[in-house]
Amino acid sequence: MSKTRTGRIAGATPVKGRALAQPAQVSGQCLCGTVRFEVDVPARWAWHDHTRASRVAHGAAYATYVGSWRKRFRILAGEDEITRYEDSATKAARSFCKRCGTPLFYERGRSRHMVNIPRALFKSRTGREPLYHIGIDEMQAWIYTGAPLGPLKGFPGVVWERPRKKKALDFPV
Ligand SMILES: [Zn+2]
Repeated sequence: MSKTRTGRIAGATPVKGRALAQPAQVSGQCLCGTVRFEVDVPARWAWHDHTRASRVAHGAAYATYVGSWRKRFRILAGEDEITRYEDSATKAARSFCKRCGTPLFYERGRSRHMVNIPRALFKSRTGREPLYHIGIDEMQAWIYTGAPLGPLKGFPGVVWERPRKKKALDFPV
């Protein structure tokens, strides 16, 4: 048993400390706000998904997901407005808001105990940084990877990536 900086004995947790130890939640919602949900934090993990299925399902270069244990995930509102698409080949299921089309939950066929939620739907931190990549070999050549940007003359608010010299390109764009 050791003493903390404030002189309290570690293990003899004061009430305030016990309250902090309770699982905290973060909530998220779809674009129209009909579907709302929450997960206990910290989430299990977070990653970028470059596979074709997630890219097309999101209509985006890639999807960034926060994975939560199913038992640490709850739908708070709008359950009746959720529709679901199941891929018969992979057994993966994707849920969407019927009203606004926002991709909501991605359940992978081989890990039924997990629910994966687009990171973009959370307004606050989830306790996990997206450090991992799935399908990195499928990453698209047109993805933005942080190249220097400059202002586009005559178009306020638009910045652009100057084209690379032709000889530097080794793939068609
Ligand atoms: Zn919606």
